[in-house]
Amino acid sequence: MSVLIFVDHLHGHIKKASHEALTYGAKIAEQTGDTAEAVVLGNVSEDLAALGQHGVKKVHHVQSDALNTFDSQVYTKVIAQVAEQSGAKVIVFSNNSSGKALAPRVAVRLKAGLVAGATALPDISNGFVVRKAVFSGKAVANVAIKTDVKVVSLNVNAFTISTSEGTAEVVPFNATVDAPKTKIVGSTKTSGKVSLTEADVVVSAGRGLKGPENWKMVEDLADELGAALACSRPVADAHWRPHNEHVGQTGIAIAPNLYIAIGISGAIQHLAGVNRSKTIVVINKDPEAPFFKAADYGIVGDAFEVVPKITEAVKKI
Ligand code: FAD
Repeated sequence: MSVLIFVDHLHGHIKKASHEALTYGAKIAEQTGDTAEAVVLGNVSEDLAALGQHGVKKVHHVQSDALNTFDSQVYTKVIAQVAEQSGAKVIVFSNNSSGKALAPRVAVRLKAGLVAGATALPDISNGFVVRKAVFSGKAVANVAIKTDVKVVSLNVNAFTISTSEGTAEVVPFNATVDAPKTKIVGSTKTSGKVSLTEADVVVSAGRGLKGPENWKMVEDLADELGAALACSRPVADAHWRPHNEHVGQTGIAIAPNLYIAIGISGAIQHLAGVNRSKTIVVINKDPEAPFFKAADYGIVGDAFEVVPKITEAVKKI
């Protein structure tokens, strides 16, 4: 029996979230006494044998031109074939955009129970109980999966990547691959130099910045820190920034190691998307701003004075 981990990549580069999922899946396999195996679809520019460093013993590599662009229906059928043939009893995804599209579809196909958004290793002492955050992170639920085959998606940044010596056996897998029903007719590069969901550091700003013309100082700080850009919802609604930077309950949920919030009040709907960040720094001129209650570090001050000073200080490091 195996624990099968889906390896997500963008233009051939394996995403950080997949390294987390690989580590997580390998640890589940250690607990259950199974073998950790991975499945990779399409061309990848990285050495797949190196995935063994996370504890994976075998990598099933399915290559076909049809798999070089993401199509959830095509991918679902292929992953299900690999899962069935490899005797997978647990299938692990990252709970990123690909995982959100694939995990439920694969679960339906395999008649498997699913927990989406796991935040810790399952407790296997009494069945298979998976911990996840609910109510926008305000509570924790322990959910038992009772089906023979189980699907779990791991929240991004919820599990530390671990590596050790080891290589995996890379095995070509001959799958039946359907022709995609969708065709990509064009793509637009999203703003920012760093992907928001993959970023270690996120610099985010809100209505306190008064207008889009003031974002240069936010971009300068993000550049110095190698950070992704984010914003509050009213900022995106006012078209000061693109909607793909909007974080929160109705935007993207992120969990970077460092989240810097500039001129954002800290409304509950905003916090719902960022409260899994490891460290939160808040810059706000109002000492009563609710965000300070959720902050690890707070700076009470005018963003227009504070932010350029931080950028200058970072430049000197
Ligand atoms: P404001 O609330 O206007 O706060 C601006 C802050 O900037 C203030 O705290 C102020 O003290 C500070 N400030 C002003 N000038 C300066 C200065 N010079 N220097 C430093 N600080 C300064 N919001 C989201 O962000 N994401 C969501 O996903 C989201 N979903 C929602 C869903 C629903 C159903 C609803 C009802 C609302 C949702 N909202 C969401 C909106 C949310 O309730 C808040 O209105 C929003 O987050 C406020 O954005 P803000 O903090 O940028 O603006």
